[in-house]
Amino acid sequence: MTFIPSSDSTSARPHSWMALAASVIGGLLISVHAAAQEQVLNLYSARHYPTDEALYSNFTKATGIRIARVDADDAGILARLKAEGAASPADLILLVDAARLWRAEVDGLFQPVKSPALEAAIPANLRAKAVEGGTPWFGLSTRARVVVYDKLSIKREDVDTYEKLADPKLKGKLCIRSGSHPYNLSLFGAVTEHLGPEKTEAWLKGMVANMARPPKGGDTDQIKGVASGECAVALTNTYYLARMMRSGKPEDQAVTEKIGVVFPNQSSWGTHVNVAGGAVARYAKHPQNAVRFLEYLASPEAQNHFANGNNEWPAAQGVKLSNPALQAMTGGSFKSELIPISAVGMNQVKVQQMLDRVGFK
Ligand code: FE
Repeated sequence: MTFIPSSDSTSARPHSWMALAASVIGGLLISVHAAAQEQVLNLYSARHYPTDEALYSNFTKATGIRIARVDADDAGILARLKAEGAASPADLILLVDAARLWRAEVDGLFQPVKSPALEAAIPANLRAKAVEGGTPWFGLSTRARVVVYDKLSIKREDVDTYEKLADPKLKGKLCIRSGSHPYNLSLFGAVTEHLGPEKTEAWLKGMVANMARPPKGGDTDQIKGVASGECAVALTNTYYLARMMRSGKPEDQAVTEKIGVVFPNQSSWGTHVNVAGGAVARYAKHPQNAVRFLEYLASPEAQNHFANGNNEWPAAQGVKLSNPALQAMTGGSFKSELIPISAVGMNQVKVQQMLDRVGFK
C-alpha cells in the first residue's frame, strides 16, 4: 500500500514534520544548555602554583565541568567560608597545610566524603580520620620540612635531627620563620606527637636561644639567610629549595651552591611531612562534581602533574615521580614520619601555649 498525499498535504505535511523536528531539537538544545550550566565546580584554592592550570583545564576537557576558582591563602579561605555560611558557593576546598585542614574540619566547614577510589588511592595516614558519613579531607601531595645549612661552617652530623637545632653548639646560628606559621605549627605538632610535650617545650626553648635574629620572612628567606651568612642553619619546605635548584637565575644558583640539605631524623622517627589536601565544602551546591574532581586529583596522571609542578611528592600510593631536583635532594628516597596527619592538628593548642611560654614569636 502506498500513501498518496492529497494535493494540499504535499506542502503541509513536510512542513509540520519539520516544525515538529525543530521543536524537538530546540527542546533538546534547551535541556542540554541547562545541563551545561549546571556543570560547574566552585573551587576555593590556596594552591597558587601556575603549573596547576593545565590540571584544571584537563579536568574540564575530560568531564565538561567548568571550574570557577577563588584564590586566597589558607587563612583567607577559612575566614571567607565562615563569613559566607550556608550561602557559600564553594564546592571544593584546597588548602596547603595539615593543621589548617584539621582546623577547617573541626570548625565544621567540610562534609565527609565516601569514595572507595579516594580511600584506595590515599594512604590512611595522609587523610583525616573517618567520621560518620566518610572522610572529612584527603592529603593530595606531600612536602618535607628539612634542614638547610652552610656547608663551610656546619658539619652535617651536627644538624641531622630536629632535636639538634636546640643544641647550644648552634647558638646564634639559627634562622627560622614565625613559630605561629602553619608550616612550623605543624612541625611542632608532629614533634609533640613523637617526643611528648615536655621534651618538645624544652626543644622549642633551645631553638629560641639559638636564633640568629627574631623570626621573620618566609621559607625562601631562611634559605637566603644561610647563603648570605646571616645565619648558618634553617628550616624550609622542600619545594622552596627545589624551586631554587631548578631556577635558571644565577642568583638562585649561587644560593643553592652554598648550602647543604639534610632530611632530619633518618635514623629515628623520620622527616616531618606536611600535606596539601582537599575537601568538599559543607554547603557545596555541586557535591558530586567536587568528589569527581577530588578523585581526578588522586589519579596517577593528576598526581604526577600536581606534585611535579610544585616539586612535591604524590600522596597516592604507587605513583612514582621523576623530578631531578627532588632526586638530587634525597639521593632517591627518604624515611618520612608515619604519624596520623590529624595528630598534627590536634596538638595545635598545646603547641601555641608552649610557644607563648618560651617566647617563640
Ligand atoms: Fe608554601
